[in-house]
Amino acid sequence: MKKHNFYAGPSVLPQFTLDETGKAIKDFAGTGLSILEISHRSKQFVAVVDEATALFKELLNIPEGYSVIFLGGGASLQFCMVPYNLMNKKAAYLNSGEWASKAIKEAKFFGEVVEVASSKDKNFSYYPKDYVVPDDVDYFHITTNNTIYGTQLRKDIDVKVPLVADMSSDIFCRPVDISKYALIYGGAQKNLAPAGVTFVIIKNDILGKFDRKIPTMLNYKTHIDKESMFNTPPVVVVFSALQTLKWLKQQGGVAAMEKINKQKAELLYNEIDRNPFFKGTVNKEDRSWMNICFVMNNGYEAHEQEFLDFASARGMIGIKGHRSVGGFRASTYNALPVESVQALVDTMKEFEKLKA
Ligand SMILES: *Cc1c(COP(=O)(O)O)cnc(C)c1O
Repeated sequence: MKKHNFYAGPSVLPQFTLDETGKAIKDFAGTGLSILEISHRSKQFVAVVDEATALFKELLNIPEGYSVIFLGGGASLQFCMVPYNLMNKKAAYLNSGEWASKAIKEAKFFGEVVEVASSKDKNFSYYPKDYVVPDDVDYFHITTNNTIYGTQLRKDIDVKVPLVADMSSDIFCRPVDISKYALIYGGAQKNLAPAGVTFVIIKNDILGKFDRKIPTMLNYKTHIDKESMFNTPPVVVVFSALQTLKWLKQQGGVAAMEKINKQKAELLYNEIDRNPFFKGTVNKEDRSWMNICFVMNNGYEAHEQEFLDFASARGMIGIKGHRSVGGFRASTYNALPVESVQALVDTMKEFEKLKA
C-alpha cells in the first residue's frame, strides 16, 4: 500500500533526494567510495558544500552581505548561539509556541528578555499581533511557523531592530524578503534534509558589535570564515540537503512551492471545515501551511482513536497530534505531494460516510 508521510519531523523528503542519496551511499561522485566514508576535505565533498551554499542563496534570493552556514546541534543549539553572539544586554522575543518558549529560556542566560506578546493564554492557538518592540533591544526574535500548534506568520514584518527568525519548519515554503532579517536559522529535518544539519543565514555586519568571549565552536564568525568546514560537517546530510535544493529549483523554486503549498493547505482546511466530524484548532487567519492541526468535532471526541486506526489502515502515517494539542496533525511540507493530501481528505470523507 502507498504510504502518505505526514510526520512533523524528521519528515517526508523528495523521492529525488532519497534516490540520489541512495546512489551516493554506494558510489559518491564516481569516486568508487561511499559518501559515508569520504573525507569532508575531499574536493568532491567541498564541491557539495559550495554548491549547497550557492543554491541556498539563489533559491532564497539572499542579498550581498549575508552568509549561509551549515552547523550541527539542531535548531535548539541556535536558541543559545543567537543570544551568545547577538545579545549585549537585552533582547525581545515573541512567544508563539513551545519552540519560542524554549528559545526564551536560553536567552535569559545572557541578559534581559522582553516577552513582547504571548499566545500562551489560549494554548498558542493564534499568532500574537499588536505588540510593541522596544527600540533599545539588541534584536527581536520570532518563530515563523509553530510546528506543534499549527500557526504561521507568512509575512516579513518591519521592525526597527535586527530581526531574528526560527524558520525550522517553514523555510522554502514561500519567497522571503531576506533583507528584512538579520538572522534566520532552522533545523533541516522538517523541510529540507534528514536530521543532523542546521542552516543559518546571517547578515555579516550584525556580528562583533560588543565584547564577549565566545567559545570557538559557538561563534558564528568561526563558521563563516571557514565556510562551514571548521570541523567535520554532517557529510551525508549536507549531501541530501543539496539534492533537495536541486529538486526545489527544478520544481520552479519557492514561488512555485508557495502556490502548491497554498493549494494543499486549502484542500485540507476546506475538508476540516466542511466535514461535521472534524474541526480546526487554531485561529483561521493564522493557519499554517506546513502543520495542519485538527481534532474530532464536539460530540465526536470518543472517535479519535478509531479515526487514527481507520486512517493508518489507509496508509496515512504520522497524523497523531502532538501531546500538547491532541487530535491530529498533518504536516504538509514541500515534499509532500498533493495526492497525499487528497488521500487524507478522501479518508476523512469515507469516515464521515461510514459514521453517518
Ligand atoms: C523542530 C523545531 C525546533 C527544534 O529543532 P531541533 O533541530 O530538534 O533542535 C526548533 N524550532 C522549531 C520551529 C521546530 O519546528
